[in-house]
Amino acid sequence: MNKYDFLVIGAGHAGIEAAFAASNMGCKTLMLVLDAKSVGRLSCNPAIGGVGKGQLVKEIDALGGQMAVAADASGIQFRTLNASRGQAVQSSRAQVDMDAYSLYMQRLVKKQKNLWLKEAQVKKLIVNDAAVCGVVTDKETIFAESVAVCAGTFLNGLIHLGLKHHSGGRVNEIASCALAEDLKSLGLNLFRFKTGTCPRLDKQTIDFSKLIIQHGDCPARPFSFATRSIKRKQVPCYITYTNELTHKIIRDNLKYSPLYSGIITSTGVRYCPSIEDKVVKFSEKNRHQVFLEPQGLKTNAIYPNGLSTSLPEEIQLKLLHSIPGLEEACVIRFGYGIEHTVVDSTQLFPTLESKLIKGLFFAGQVNGTTGYEEAAAQGIVAGINAALKIRKEKSFILERADGYIGVLIDDLTTKGTNEPYRMFTSRVEYRLLLREDNADLRLSKKGFQLGLINKNVYRKVLAKAEAIQKGIHYLRKTRVKSIGHFNEKLKKQNLQELKKSVTLEELLKRPPVKLADLKALNLLPKGIAESAWQQVEIEIKYAGFIQRQLKDVERFKHLEKIKLPLDFDYRNLSGISREIKEKLAKFKPLNLGQASRISGVTPAAVSLLMVYIGRLKRTNG
Ligand SMILES: Cc1cc2nc3c(=O)[nH]c(=O)nc-3n(C[C@H](O)[C@H](O)[C@H](O)COP(=O)(O)OP(=O)(O)OC[C@H]3O[C@@H](n4cnc5c(N)ncnc54)[C@H](O)[C@@H]3O)c2cc1C
Repeated sequence: MNKYDFLVIGAGHAGIEAAFAASNMGCKTLMLVLDAKSVGRLSCNPAIGGVGKGQLVKEIDALGGQMAVAADASGIQFRTLNASRGQAVQSSRAQVDMDAYSLYMQRLVKKQKNLWLKEAQVKKLIVNDAAVCGVVTDKETIFAESVAVCAGTFLNGLIHLGLKHHSGGRVNEIASCALAEDLKSLGLNLFRFKTGTCPRLDKQTIDFSKLIIQHGDCPARPFSFATRSIKRKQVPCYITYTNELTHKIIRDNLKYSPLYSGIITSTGVRYCPSIEDKVVKFSEKNRHQVFLEPQGLKTNAIYPNGLSTSLPEEIQLKLLHSIPGLEEACVIRFGYGIEHTVVDSTQLFPTLESKLIKGLFFAGQVNGTTGYEEAAAQGIVAGINAALKIRKEKSFILERADGYIGVLIDDLTTKGTNEPYRMFTSRVEYRLLLREDNADLRLSKKGFQLGLINKNVYRKVLAKAEAIQKGIHYLRKTRVKSIGHFNEKLKKQNLQELKKSVTLEELLKRPPVKLADLKALNLLPKGIAESAWQQVEIEIKYAGFIQRQLKDVERFKHLEKIKLPLDFDYRNLSGISREIKEKLAKFKPLNLGQASRISGVTPAAVSLLMVYIGRLKRTNG
């Protein structure tokens, strides 16, 4: 068979989620990969999640994606980051066994109905009348109604190690040059971005006695709402620091760095800088933290997180040997930098379909993002929309008020990015509402309606929502009296005594009182799960802030609801500058909210647009 409904180029994090979403929605899906053993490969650090990224993983899970379950199955250390800070900025992160992660994904792919995997290199897209209808590979021509490009760092990838460079998509993997040229010939705007990775060290040559040990949380908290507990053995990470000598070695050898010698000119990852970047840009700092993270349970490879570098091999060795604990460290694989081609994400609709070529979707690093989670989040949205398009159904768009995924895709498609884009909690306006702990409550309904999560899982989410309401109702209607023996109990808990009777809700609202205190005082009914009580506590404690954000969301939704026709002729609008009209015509915003976020579009122009749309509606009845 060489005709499919949906064809996915790439079996990385974006490709996998796209292929699973579409095949679960009944589309005959083919996933193409350059090397079948690389399905689900973690190209860089052995970890899933992190600040702003944990939220993405949980949202992917709530929509019925695969990343969270794979991380739970292969996780070897789980931690909640920002645990001492507010709920809105807490994020989960797991060290994962890299081989186990990739093998887990390979097994899932094999078992998946409607999904086929082939090893081939796509050289060219077949496009007729501005619509994609297949691809030409190094082996055959394959037809498909929709195609998703999830080619990661492979498009014209150029690997740098010191002043030497060679073509490659990742270490020991070929680059995808013909496809990059083809995308250019199809009229897409292309840019060059840069990223890099650390050397890998041999565990047996590290002196752990000099290092600070870092354990994970106990018990480990899984990513997926469906995982009950983590089964795999948990292991620690270790911390060390660079020092003045390390920095001197780097400074003395900057002339051999491809970045500082001018060989690499493309834009690098601001938030994941190389060690050379850190030493130059933060020259006032006399040390930088390095986390030594195990790559798995059956390998000796250690990933020194914080030491991404593309300096020559001998300099990498020298700088490593200047760091406590690494004096004798042997390198299994040297760090390197990679420059690769990305597409202009403002040429995509929020469905991730190209504005230029119908049926052609882009997801992952190829859209200018960096990170496994960002890639997977785009993958599931592209896969869902490809399937909906094939089924001729209404598209699926997550808004900024729906989740981190909505913010990520809205940022990419309305603002674009001129440097590798990484997700952060600070990018999210409504982060108090969009927490990782409530991703299931926010998004499972959508996952269920799309057919991506099964009835049993969805029933559990509904039961949780009911339990939360029950808990809130109980705390609202139950009063405690300011009588002597109860005040005595409060005193014992180091809590202020009551002067008059209050509801449990009022008691819990007092800043030092925690739900755990009410539990210790035997004030909570049995039969409500811990996860539901957690939500009850957040809802009550942050009620004021939550109400305020809900009002902001209402205001935001007002503009999102005002649709702009795709063929709207912006040229004849008076009172709007030519520059803004050109931008609106180029970006083709789907609604007024999106139009307002395009850089350079002023509030005055948005007000005028609102008037024009009102007039248009009245004219058309
Ligand atoms: C050196 C390096 C350093 C990185 N550093 C960081 C970092 O510091 N922080 C961070 O968060 N992320 C980092 N990453 C990025 C992270 O690995 C990616 O963001 C993530 O893997 C992207 O996922 P993806 O699905 O878009 O693409 P990938 O995981 O790269 O998968 C691409 C897939 O496309 C396939 N493919 C490509 N071209 C073709 C073709 N023509 N035909 C068929 N198949 C094709 C490949 O076989 C592969 O399966 C780094 C990556 C690399 C390579």
